[in-house]
Amino acid sequence: MKGLLVFCALLGAALAKENFVGHQVLRIFPADEAQMSLVQSLEELDHLQLDFWKTLTQPGSPVDIRVPFPSVQAVKIFLESNSIQYDIMIEDLQTLLDEEANEMVSSRWLDRSTASFNYAAYHTLSEIYAFMDSLTAENPGLVSKIQIGNSYEGRPIYVLKFSTGANRPAFWIDTGIHSREWVTQASGIWFAKKIVDDHAKNPSLLNSMDIFLEIVTNPDGYAFTHSSNRMWRKTRSINAGSSCIGVDPNRNWDAGFGGAGASSNPCTETYRGPRANSEPEVKAIVDFVKAHGKIKGFVSIHSYSQLLLYPYGYTTARAADYQELDNLAKSAVSALSAVYGTRYQYGSIITTIYQASGGTIDWTYNQGIKYSYTFELRDTGRYGFALPANQIIPTAVETWAALLKIIEYTRDHPY
Ligand SMILES: [Zn+2]
Repeated sequence: MKGLLVFCALLGAALAKENFVGHQVLRIFPADEAQMSLVQSLEELDHLQLDFWKTLTQPGSPVDIRVPFPSVQAVKIFLESNSIQYDIMIEDLQTLLDEEANEMVSSRWLDRSTASFNYAAYHTLSEIYAFMDSLTAENPGLVSKIQIGNSYEGRPIYVLKFSTGANRPAFWIDTGIHSREWVTQASGIWFAKKIVDDHAKNPSLLNSMDIFLEIVTNPDGYAFTHSSNRMWRKTRSINAGSSCIGVDPNRNWDAGFGGAGASSNPCTETYRGPRANSEPEVKAIVDFVKAHGKIKGFVSIHSYSQLLLYPYGYTTARAADYQELDNLAKSAVSALSAVYGTRYQYGSIITTIYQASGGTIDWTYNQGIKYSYTFELRDTGRYGFALPANQIIPTAVETWAALLKIIEYTRDHPY
């Protein structure tokens, strides 16, 4: 009887979690406009259940698609019969995810001090929230935790505040608005510790500026990537009239909302939502930014592709501060590359990747936050969203070099 119960429990756990056995990630190289529209047409074929990890930009630039096992043959035949080149980037996604899960189990946190926290591992939501509490408790007068709202499913949304004085101009960093981009939340944890450790050695950064850091910007999605589907990107809100769940929180902001580069179909990964700010995770930041009134720099961090981007995404119009933003991006990228030689591209969203409406930093820029940027962290597709944990610290270290350029520039150029 006991054996049967254990078996049923295991079966239940196995059934509850989406598995990716035999799922391949294909990197496809459409050579011209005709091949681009053929690849694009795959997105409309709902029965194939394709997951576009990296979407179309221009001929010659690759598209990465996660193809579920039952669709692999059909997609390959389609590509080959149309003479479209492709590589198999990931042979079996589940193998990578199994390694990731094993590494998580082997890194439990015993004494709850931020000194012994394993920054080279991925962590659950509750572990990250416990880390925030430890960091706050260890650094009274420097770090505080602010709840800026609740998620759709009622989870608290927290921001860490690093400050040595009252209500100064501030710099904002968020990670994990897309939940499956795990290297971003993991980097956010490392940034938090780094800010504290550097302050002890050299307090100049926080002398004239506060930093706000939201590590888990989409807590429902993040919890879901651990409990049920590692590849979940969106929020978890229920969509009226649809069985599909969630909104793309990086298409939900009130900047070109509803325009090209976002979908009106709740079943797509870029569903914009019923209206701007419909997602409580987005609205919480909007309210916070407006109430604060003195946020001067804003960086929203995604993965993957190794890009540093600035506004705009929804329009081809150049940002008024285009030249300054471009110069600062160039110096940030060169600081990043100087660490390990990681290559980054930079530019405006629409010219560097694709048109995207309702994005975070278009809204913050239009709100008057001049230094608004988005990162796409490692890698360029070898592992994509399943970046091995041994790349967390190198990713965080190099990204911090770029972030520090932007933060210091913001501090030194008051406006
Ligand atoms: Zn993203």
